[in-house]
Amino acid sequence: MAMLLLTRGHLLERNGRYTYQVMMRAPIMTRDMRGKRLVQEGKVERTGRHTWKVTSSDGSRQYRVTDWQDADNRFECECYDFRRNKAKCKHVAAIHFQLLKDEFGIDLIGGDPK
Ligand SMILES: [Zn+2]
Repeated sequence: MAMLLLTRGHLLERNGRYTYQVMMRAPIMTRDMRGKRLVQEGKVERTGRHTWKVTSSDGSRQYRVTDWQDADNRFECECYDFRRNKAKCKHVAAIHFQLLKDEFGIDLIGGDPK
């Protein structure tokens, strides 16, 4: 899916009038969107009570996600994004979508993959 953008930063002058430059650009996918896609693609596998294995979209890598079940309800992933940002990566997002469905019956996974 492409996204149509009108950029103000690239105003062009045409026939003495300003006009907008029109660009087509791929949408910026959030970690939640990427996580949801991983679930849709069947990349999430529960390996234990508190552990999951998430395979990357291209199938080349696997990441272990751990739910530490502590007071902060902390999830941890071994990917670079998580280690660098200390915030929810797409793999943890995927687990959250899967858990919502499995544990609470809330299915936010459906819909067409974007
Ligand atoms: Zn991760």
